[in-house]
Amino acid sequence: METKLLRIDEKNIDESLVREAGDVIRAGGLVAFPTETVYGLGGDALNARSSEKIYRAKGRPSDNPLIVHIADMEALPAIVREIPESAARLAECFWPGPLTMILYKSDIVPRETTGGLDTVAVRMPVHPVARELIRAAGGYVAAPSANRSGRPSPTLAKYVIEDLDGRIDLIVDGGDVEIGLESTIVDLTAARPVILRPGYITRRMLEEVLGDVAEDSTMMRDDSGQAPKAPGMKYRHYAPRGELTIVDGTEESVIEYINSRIALHRSENKKTGVIGTDASVARYHADVCRSAGDRRDEDTIARELYRILREFDDENVEVIYAESFDTDGIGQAIMNRLLKAAGHRVIHIG
Ligand code: AMP
Ligand code: MG
Repeated sequence: METKLLRIDEKNIDESLVREAGDVIRAGGLVAFPTETVYGLGGDALNARSSEKIYRAKGRPSDNPLIVHIADMEALPAIVREIPESAARLAECFWPGPLTMILYKSDIVPRETTGGLDTVAVRMPVHPVARELIRAAGGYVAAPSANRSGRPSPTLAKYVIEDLDGRIDLIVDGGDVEIGLESTIVDLTAARPVILRPGYITRRMLEEVLGDVAEDSTMMRDDSGQAPKAPGMKYRHYAPRGELTIVDGTEESVIEYINSRIALHRSENKKTGVIGTDASVARYHADVCRSAGDRRDEDTIARELYRILREFDDENVEVIYAESFDTDGIGQAIMNRLLKAAGHRVIHIG
């Protein structure tokens, strides 16, 4: 299949290009497009064949449910059994934006889209190109991240091309994404809301609206021994090809430890990489050293993380060490992704 590439400028949206992309989805095709979190791979959420195509294009296990994207609140009632008060309040505060809610699905949502579940994940993105495209596509776009399954999510169109060229109909290039990590997912189907995946919308922000909010116990810990709450949570994610280890401790001890490991790997002729910060990166001796940014600027770290992980792949790095980050605010989402990318390999020193 030949994959077509379209550029759409979010500040000056060309309606005819949006219509062209929307028509591809209406006809059962797949279109990758920018959102404020990461690039999504969109298909018609109400068409079982489209969802099957998404799984095939990504190489994603078909019991890992997709998120249905809508552009307007009026679109919500048709795809859910009911809208609980908690969902209405969260929508008012955080939609459009990087928040996904799990609700009971209505009959028009095929089980192919929900990975066989009777619940559906719904999000309303804020990115203007995403919103226009969803409307042009008929209102309901199932869109997981636009990467091959297991790889870091794409934060630029060039990474979508890298993973999916020849496997999907169209890629809409809308430039950089703003957040760089996937949406926060909150399950509203039980009496107490539960965060299944941390993101830019933090627990504290949700609790300000809902009162007490729980966190899934596997969010920051190794989940290999536990039955996952959502099927998708059991899969390895976001991983670079090289073996990634997180090193936690005081700055000096972390730098010293990582450099000693690098010396060892070098003697084994292995190509090495490090994820440090602006303050530390110059002190590492790895072949490829990358700063995730200033420690105090977590928004930048979130935006840079997946790009850095992919760059290690581009450079064929075999062994990677990363500094650890605080788990306050969006830091929790950063560490959640980094822990998954590292397969929960963490070394505590100092
Ligand atoms: P992605 O589309 O790659 O951002 O991942 C979507 C994730 O959302 C899945 O891996 C699940 O963990 C979660 N998810 C989607 N639908 C549901 C659902 N109905 N119930 C629970 N989790 C869901
Ligand atoms: Mg994904």
